[in-house]
Amino acid sequence: MRIDTRIAERLKKIHPSSTLSVTSKVKQLKSEGYDVISFAAGEPDFDTPDFIKDAAISAIRSGFTKYTQTSGTLELKKLISNKFKKDNFLNYSPDQICVSCGAKHSIFNALLSLLNAKDEVLIPVPYWVSYPEMVNICEGTARFVKTSYKDNFKITAQDLEKHITPGVKALIINSPSNPTGVVYTKDELQDLADICVKKNIFVISDEIYEKLIYDNLKHFSIASLNKDIYNLTITINGLSKSYSMTGWRIGYLGGPQDIVEAICKLQDHSTSNPTSIAQKAAEAALNGGDDFTRNIASEFQKRRDYCISRLKVMKKINYIVPQGAFYVFCDISKTGLDSKSASYELLNEKYLALIPGEGFGKDDYVRISFAASQEQLEKGLDRLESWLNKFG
Ligand code: PMP
Ligand code: GLU
Repeated sequence: MRIDTRIAERLKKIHPSSTLSVTSKVKQLKSEGYDVISFAAGEPDFDTPDFIKDAAISAIRSGFTKYTQTSGTLELKKLISNKFKKDNFLNYSPDQICVSCGAKHSIFNALLSLLNAKDEVLIPVPYWVSYPEMVNICEGTARFVKTSYKDNFKITAQDLEKHITPGVKALIINSPSNPTGVVYTKDELQDLADICVKKNIFVISDEIYEKLIYDNLKHFSIASLNKDIYNLTITINGLSKSYSMTGWRIGYLGGPQDIVEAICKLQDHSTSNPTSIAQKAAEAALNGGDDFTRNIASEFQKRRDYCISRLKVMKKINYIVPQGAFYVFCDISKTGLDSKSASYELLNEKYLALIPGEGFGKDDYVRISFAASQEQLEKGLDRLESWLNKFG
């Protein structure tokens, strides 16, 4: 067999995940004894709460270790349905919900269920690294929609309208956003929803950072705005960020019943159910109230404030103050370096790890994660400042 036919065409243009590869490089350097400060983390640095761990342990002890319904247990889906109602004003019955192995898996399922080959998906730039790659794997076409610093990197109704062609099937929105931390207002979502309804475009609304939101801002779910947009939206969420459960791999989606049925069929023949034990842990999390999440959100707000107070005096850096998530997306164009070179230098000269903006569609930016302790933040920002000094 010729070498170039060994790998399927659909995978040839896929790049490794820049977020995951920097994270594994940091782990390697740390294991070799280097004093690396990592601002690369895409996960909260808090431990999963004990009451959640205990639920998983008792699931194992009581033998809850077998297959469950593919889309998740009815108990868990009922809890998710209640969560959607209470937090998001969304009515998704349990059979409109599919629980999967992380929100990443839910997004992938949604795309694979919606897209025919060459269908176009509008992705506002900057975007989370995996969206375009997932569209590519599904043999769709990622169409990037530029946003501007002056619009806080949010896609406007005019931006959206300009990019609509007959080939466009869906739009991905992510609020609060990774990597910028910006949050869409209800009015902004309403404007986008009106166009999507008018043009019959599906929305994949990634709301994974919903609960990590600052300055008393409110998160809105686009699907809750009216019946028409509800019928076109797949709402994505999960427990990774809000309950510090990244390793447990529980994400979920709610959507129109026909689409969710298709997604369940897909999951029947791919992963089957998400881990039974993690589902019991997720039930405990959703039954356990919001205290843990509120506490970590308030801790993240303090760290955000600290980071901003330091970045404010670094003349070579520009940024938008994040309103949610745990990232600051920093414009480093004044250094004259592209994002990979800047990140490479920072790691090799200062042992500071950040994620290059290239993977998010902005090669003159780097992403700082403030999911790190105060001590690490202080040390890391000192290193960033001293590196920037060489640029005058
Ligand atoms: N969406 C965004 C924007 C993310 O940053 C992440 C983090 N990995 C995910 C989805 C997926 O989260 P998970 O698969 O861990 O639930
Ligand atoms: N979402 C996180 C990040 O952007 C975790 C890593 C990943 O899944 O890409 O860093």
